[in-house]
Amino acid sequence: MLLVVGAGFAGATLSRKLADSGYKIHQIDRRNHIGGNAFDGVDDKGVLVHRYGPHIFHTNSEHVWDFLSRFTEWRSYEHRVLGAVDGKHYPFPINRDTLNLLYGLNLDEAGAENFFEQVREPREPVRTSEDVVLNSVGRDLYEKFFLNYTRKQWGMEPSELKAGVAARIPVRTNTDDRYFTDTYQAMPLHGYTKMFERMLDHPNITVELGVDFADIKEKEQWEHVVYTGPIDAYFNYCFGRLPYRSLSFEHEHIPDTQQYQEVGTVNFPNDHAYTRITEFKHLTGQKHPGTSIVREYPQAQGDPYYPIPSDANEALYKRYATLAETEQGVTFVGRLAQYRYYNMDQVVAAALVAAKKIIG
Ligand code: FAD
Ligand code: UDP
Repeated sequence: MLLVVGAGFAGATLSRKLADSGYKIHQIDRRNHIGGNAFDGVDDKGVLVHRYGPHIFHTNSEHVWDFLSRFTEWRSYEHRVLGAVDGKHYPFPINRDTLNLLYGLNLDEAGAENFFEQVREPREPVRTSEDVVLNSVGRDLYEKFFLNYTRKQWGMEPSELKAGVAARIPVRTNTDDRYFTDTYQAMPLHGYTKMFERMLDHPNITVELGVDFADIKEKEQWEHVVYTGPIDAYFNYCFGRLPYRSLSFEHEHIPDTQQYQEVGTVNFPNDHAYTRITEFKHLTGQKHPGTSIVREYPQAQGDPYYPIPSDANEALYKRYATLAETEQGVTFVGRLAQYRYYNMDQVVAAALVAAKKIIG
């Protein structure tokens, strides 16, 4: 019997792949639901919402897409985001329309390229998130769209964060206003939780919820353990705590309102204590006389949602990773166990690789 700790994307993918290969799996999660942070369900007004903030699926990996497509049909969805600056909403990521609207210009593609060339502050090497943004769009756009959002989201200066954080956001000279440009962009037609239910619906898998690893690890001799929780917790914080950024989610239903905002998400870099508002009906396509939104308030304490990519944290993680290599019969995989700022598809890809290794 194998024990899989955590029923999010990492754990569920591993359970299913291993079960398909004939292994018997006991799957646990300390929460009372499957799906990890991608868990969704209807709120008390009947609108499908994501309890832990907006989850938009996108990938360039055919392999990941094919795997998940065994468990769900899809609804095509391309996410769009607006950034609120001085009370007005602009396309975000920054594209040519953002420049034209913000500065009252009429730039074409070459004009936009030239604009960025004029305003950028070349940095060499590009090491931090501050470097990334100043190097591509210069100080004014940095201060309007990035500086305060990043401070709010991470409780740190962009200069303290690795380049990879801000590098998630492209800069465009065309007018493409999609948040992602991946080949596959879609939402599970009946929601994430339904997809997870089908993934774990296998005669070789038993699922037990509301159970912590600590309560069960000595219960029997596990043939192998797959651990997808925070890696520092597994080792009793022996080298100290790895910092994770948390959020609190303020969900709200607005009755008798078809649409609250023009697009799925509006970002508020400079105003409010929250970073963004997401309206779920844009993502799910649900028809309902009212609408439900969520505001995200970043905070230091609470459930671990984001590993914080800094040099110091990565050095600390490496010490845990080295220890993990010597831990016989345990596989560490997922956003918390690998301390990586992974998207859902990257977690599935990592879990598929890990499954292959275990199966041999
Ligand atoms: P998790 O989903 O965190 O699952 C780990 C599970 O392990 C949890 O359910 C936890 O309860 C359980 N666990 C931990 N410790 C123990 C223990 N000791 N005993 C028992 N169980 C335990 N990705 C995208 O691709 N697109 C998006 O739009 C997107 N939006 C996001 C928005 C927010 C606000 C957040 C926080 C993340 C977002 N992500 C998005 C990232 C996505 O949530 C993750 O990549 C993915 O869910 C990680 O899966 P996981 O299985 O590694 O971890
Ligand atoms: N970011 C920003 N302004 C924005 C959106 C993003 O400065 O309006 C920065 C911020 O540091 C954020 C990072 O870019 O943490 C990555 O943004 P993304 O939307 O990918 O974050 P996630 O959806 O993972 O929270």
